[in-house]
Amino acid sequence: PANPIRRVLLETRNVGGKVPLGVRKKNMRIIVTGGAGFVGSHLVDRLIARGDSVIENLAHHFGNPKFELIRHDVIYHLACPASPVHYKFNPVKTIISFLLLFLFLFLLGFHKTNVVGTLNMLGLAKRVGARFLLTSTSEVYGDPLQHPQVESYWGNVNPIGVRSCYDEGKRTAETLTMDYHRGLGIEVRIARIFNTYGPRMCIDDGRVVSNFVAQALRKEPLTVYGDGKQTRSFQYVSDLVEGLMRLMEGNHVGPFNLGNPGEFTMLELAQVVQDTIDPNAKIEFRPNTEDDPHKRKPDISKAKELLGWEPTVSLRKGLPLMVTDFRQRIFGDSKDRDA
Ligand code: UDP
Repeated sequence: PANPIRRVLLETRNVGGKVPLGVRKKNMRIIVTGGAGFVGSHLVDRLIARGDSVIENLAHHFGNPKFELIRHDVIYHLACPASPVHYKFNPVKTIISFLLLFLFLFLLGFHKTNVVGTLNMLGLAKRVGARFLLTSTSEVYGDPLQHPQVESYWGNVNPIGVRSCYDEGKRTAETLTMDYHRGLGIEVRIARIFNTYGPRMCIDDGRVVSNFVAQALRKEPLTVYGDGKQTRSFQYVSDLVEGLMRLMEGNHVGPFNLGNPGEFTMLELAQVVQDTIDPNAKIEFRPNTEDDPHKRKPDISKAKELLGWEPTVSLRKGLPLMVTDFRQRIFGDSKDRDA
């Protein structure tokens, strides 16, 4: 076929095919969207190392042709069923109808990616009979009222806040994934990923671990938002990749929390960064962002039991590995430049 995406998909079907439950075919052909990103690049490394063929990062193909396609779908489904009796009858169509609104309102990139991107990839999985893994997020729990968070907790999400495009986008993506699974028999897996750090993380993307590490290396103050008593649980990237692969190759749909249960306040994290990089690093308090979750810690009993997975790299062990990478990227090869 002339369309490069379609050609890739057909090749995927021919070579990779449908993966029997619990069995991993040798030398699979795997599509990784976001394969050039932080977690994706580590995942691609591992898949290639064990002999799989990886077609990475289709996202840039999603431009015109894909949006054209969806625009047509959306126009066809203008009359969106609003009654639960009706929308439960065809949940996938219901959500597609909402896309009309999303597109017209020019919602932020995140929501578009989550909803439209997930829809594209699910359609693709359906066409080629591939198994589909959704990387969802701990953000689906919002500002959680249950602690630690178990997968059965439905969360506490503000639907109209500044984080909503992400939280609700991922929640919608989970809904779509389960609807495709139940309604069309697509094999799916859902991971809810908690805060993850490691080498190759974007230096200036504004996440707390990358900020603190870059700031300490550059001799800038560590910016603690709010009172610094909010908590997060930080997972080293190789633990996450292991969890994603086990999930993809196992028999359970999920959702599964994939995160490290070691919980830290932001002030404690700043302390670990000081201990690791520069004990004299200053702390500077800044106003916190709106709707910032107060606490976050995964309950990983389900992943332990059903995937045989748990993290092995503590924050104090993982952080130095990230620091080495950041040091090289910030200062070039000279290790002693900031000494
Ligand atoms: N945070 C901080 N200083 C920073 C960046 C973030 O104190 O320079 C805080 C932020 O307010 C939040 C926590 O760190 O409470 C985690 O933020 P991040 O953006 O890394 O992840 P998320 O909020 O998505 O869990």
